Amino acid sequence: MMETNIQNNFKEIDSKVRRTCRKWNEDPDHIEIVAVSKKQPIERIIEALEYGHRTFGENIVQNAQKMWVDSGLKDRYPDVKLHLIGSLQTNKVKEAVALFDCIETIDRPTLVDAVLKEMKKQKKTPLCFIQVNTGEEEQKSGVVPSELSSLLQYTEESGLDIKGLMCIPPHNEPSGLHFAFLKKLADEYALEYLSMGMSHDFEKAIPLKATHIRIGTALFGERTD
Ligand SMILES: *Cc1c(COP(=O)(O)O)cnc(C)c1O
Repeated sequence: MMETNIQNNFKEIDSKVRRTCRKWNEDPDHIEIVAVSKKQPIERIIEALEYGHRTFGENIVQNAQKMWVDSGLKDRYPDVKLHLIGSLQTNKVKEAVALFDCIETIDRPTLVDAVLKEMKKQKKTPLCFIQVNTGEEEQKSGVVPSELSSLLQYTEESGLDIKGLMCIPPHNEPSGLHFAFLKKLADEYALEYLSMGMSHDFEKAIPLKATHIRIGTALFGERTD
């Protein structure tokens, strides 16, 4: 069978991850590629699935439902794992808990309450990460670093198990500084997972112990709008 562009991209990213791991003495088995399928034509996603990839990221709940549920893809590939990597509105929590295996963007107490309530109702326990707005950018969601401690205290008291942290560094700053900061925070609170690094900077996230790298355009090409 002839290899498609997308499958070729997956091979290239896989080998870049392995090469970077060798360089920094990291274990590639500890790094999961979250293939960001948002705003991509479904044909490209099917190529990824045929290549054997199973972990995908979406940033908007309704779009994820279209791509994965309405299309029948989730039925055809029941072992697909979906990560929510965009901000979550309280009124979409029901759908999010039903669809996602990992919610990377917990960032406020009201969301913690809503997610917990749905997890109990649906008897589902998606992995939960807290998104940290490491650059303290006005327009970005995520908890600011100074409020992480109280949010973690809140999740602990409420009974929501937080397994990791996620960040999206500001465009105009070196990502490595933000990755190092996120790593420091994860160490401080003994959190296992670190979701950081995208198409242009995942190689910087690997030596800083990323466990999840979220890659869109380097795998699928430019997004359509
Ligand atoms: C879109 C998106 C990505 C993927 O970005 P690329 O530059 O295409 O790799 C990663 N993380 C988040 C949170 C995103 O919204």
